[in-house]
Amino acid sequence: MNLIIGSHVSFNNKEQLLGSVKEALSYNANTFMIYTGSTQSTSRSTINDEFTYEAYKLMLENNIDSNNVIVHAPYIINLANRKDEDKYLFYCDFLANELDRCKSLGLNKIVLHPGSATTCSKEEAIKNIIDGINYVYNKTTDTMILLEFMAGKGTEVGTSIDEIKCIIDGIDDKNRIGVCLDTCHMNDSGIDISKFNEFLDEFDSKIGISKIKCIHLNDSLNNIGFHKDRHANIGYGTIGFDNLLEVVYNDRLDVPYILETPYVNRNTNESFAPYKYEIESIRNKKFIDFKEKYEK
Ligand code: FE
Ligand code: FE
Ligand code: ZN
Repeated sequence: MNLIIGSHVSFNNKEQLLGSVKEALSYNANTFMIYTGSTQSTSRSTINDEFTYEAYKLMLENNIDSNNVIVHAPYIINLANRKDEDKYLFYCDFLANELDRCKSLGLNKIVLHPGSATTCSKEEAIKNIIDGINYVYNKTTDTMILLEFMAGKGTEVGTSIDEIKCIIDGIDDKNRIGVCLDTCHMNDSGIDISKFNEFLDEFDSKIGISKIKCIHLNDSLNNIGFHKDRHANIGYGTIGFDNLLEVVYNDRLDVPYILETPYVNRNTNESFAPYKYEIESIRNKKFIDFKEKYEK
């Protein structure tokens, strides 16, 4: 089995995708995930094709397959609410624009948080999300949206196999819709990751396992079913190193695994990304206690 593993990395104005590839390589990753701009705003830089070209050259040299590279849509997009039609359409158009940006970067998958039903029922929210995605697909080509499995914090939609299935059932272009699991979100939604195969059985019978296109690999700071969504470093949370290894080395899946775990010494001027250590520990199936060594 060829392990495809990486983390979220930055995509900044200095070198755009080229900088992202360099950062991923510094963690010994063979894939990565980016946001093409701020997660909390809609301002976007123009894609510089020179950087993209150089990035692909570097990816080719290092066996990074662009089909495994994932984009994440900004958090501010919320297709669940439609009380303010202008705002809803603004988010739809912005998402369509993000899909086009993926295309110009040569990337074909974008992860989307389905949304939070803050002004309506979950049933209405699911309808709004379906309509929004179908609208976006009518304006774009190729890029596939991966619905992220959510923790169920607040009024989040997409916190169970059944809710995700409801959304997928309403999408016209089934070839362009997939799912991104997130082990922290699953745990927090009430799923016992130590029984991951049982989850896959249910997913397979209701949606089809081939719809799983990416897994966010995170430990969780909270117990099963707490609906919190606070990520922990691999092996430092309630899911635990061994259970996460079982997910990564499950032979029913052949998908990229993306770490979104917190930085070491976060919010200090000595903060750094843990991904090099986490990737090494997963590859060697041997836990590395980097926190003991470096956390202040
Ligand atoms: Fe996410
Ligand atoms: Fe995630
Ligand atoms: Zn999360």
